[in-house]
Amino acid sequence: MARIQTPQRIRGTQDIAFEEQRRFAHVLDTFERVRRLYCFQRIEIPVFEDTQVFARSIGETTDVVSKEMYSFEDRSGDSVTLRPEFTAGIARAYIGNGWQQHAPMKIATSGPVFRYERPQKGRYRQFHQIDAEVIGAAEPAADVELLALADQLLRELGIADDVTLQLNTLGDAETRDAWRAALVEHFQGARGELSEDSLARLDKNPLRILDSKDPRDRPIADSAPGIDDFLTDAARDFFGQVTAGLDAAGVAWTRNDRLVRGLDYYRHTAFEFVTDRLGAQGTVLAGGRYDGLIGSLGGPETPGVGWAAGVERLAMLIDEPNNLAIDAVVVPIGSAAESQAQGIVAALRRADVTTDMAFTGNMKRRLAKANALGAKYAIILGDDELAKDVVVVKSLSTGQQAEMRRNWIPQGIFDLLFEDELAEHQCQTLAPLAERLTPA
Ligand code: ATP
Ligand code: MG
Repeated sequence: MARIQTPQRIRGTQDIAFEEQRRFAHVLDTFERVRRLYCFQRIEIPVFEDTQVFARSIGETTDVVSKEMYSFEDRSGDSVTLRPEFTAGIARAYIGNGWQQHAPMKIATSGPVFRYERPQKGRYRQFHQIDAEVIGAAEPAADVELLALADQLLRELGIADDVTLQLNTLGDAETRDAWRAALVEHFQGARGELSEDSLARLDKNPLRILDSKDPRDRPIADSAPGIDDFLTDAARDFFGQVTAGLDAAGVAWTRNDRLVRGLDYYRHTAFEFVTDRLGAQGTVLAGGRYDGLIGSLGGPETPGVGWAAGVERLAMLIDEPNNLAIDAVVVPIGSAAESQAQGIVAALRRADVTTDMAFTGNMKRRLAKANALGAKYAIILGDDELAKDVVVVKSLSTGQQAEMRRNWIPQGIFDLLFEDELAEHQCQTLAPLAERLTPA
């Protein structure tokens, strides 16, 4: 008989479990905690949008829009796209929902995003981003706050020393036009040596040539005029306020005057947090100021600044987080005990004691499972214990055990765990507790 073909995972997608999932969850939990500390409010937005939302805000000339979008027609023939990032959808929501009345809005979100790319380590077709934005604030203080948030996140993940903040300014519109003209002139002079990709960018998006990775472009990009000679006083002052704020907040940064974000609406601050621990996938978090975006989508002229980070890339950098600490494992022996055990497990969980039950295999296997889970206490009950209306509580770290009256659960276990935390030495033996918890 022909074997049934098993279904395959789609290329570039991931099944995340075990240690990998714990790393992933730790990144998200830490982000949630830190964004609260900074008073950023959480929002949720759709996974897919009208294709125009991304095409118009990210820009037709970018790699994301020209090659990487997952776009399809839905059943009514409308073109929709799985979000390749968050900012465009957030801008669409801000305009459509009249969120101007809440400006400045400090926003955080996270979830899956989709890009049709060549999969490799740290690069997937469905990956996950955490995202932070401040919309409706033109002040450099907003840039500083966002960068401090990113910096604190990396510190709390324990990877601040592995990651460097590279900072640049793209100036205001006047600065950018003057710089752009100088760049075009410089690149025109070297047309013959540029890569095909860069030649194509020359008309539409010459700034992008600066961060080309093609070795043919590098010498020409490296010798291109920097932005500093073109900065207006206002743009220079803005950048000075951002860097002064970062210094005051204790956020380390280095200047990278080649760093550009490709989109036309980017203004002033542009930044990337980079590491050398992930090979070619070294950018873990990136963003900048996008004062032109909401206006270009037809909304009221509204300043904005934000960043996004890849959850998988951050998760690859952090130390392995601790496994979930299990407080107790209930080990019933025999069918009468098994049904009674359900009541004990339920009572413990309602009392906030993290509890699992070992209910498969013989007694030996059940105890082995209790040990393997790394639980602090095993709560064992068989026919003898049922008859005496007790359970055996065994400390899995010391091996000592004592009987506990069943009606003293969960209070007795709760006390044990509580004392365990307060003074570990008091709990090395269960004997005194057994005296206390088994009233004569
Ligand atoms: P790259 O240069 O690596 O392609 P990017 O400039 O396209 O990155 P952004 O659009 O700035 O990336 O997205 C923000 C972050 O999302 C990146 O810094 C990275 O951590 C993560 N990221 C981007 N693309 C992928 C991907 N295909 N798989 C996993 N993470 C990604
Ligand atoms: Mg990319």
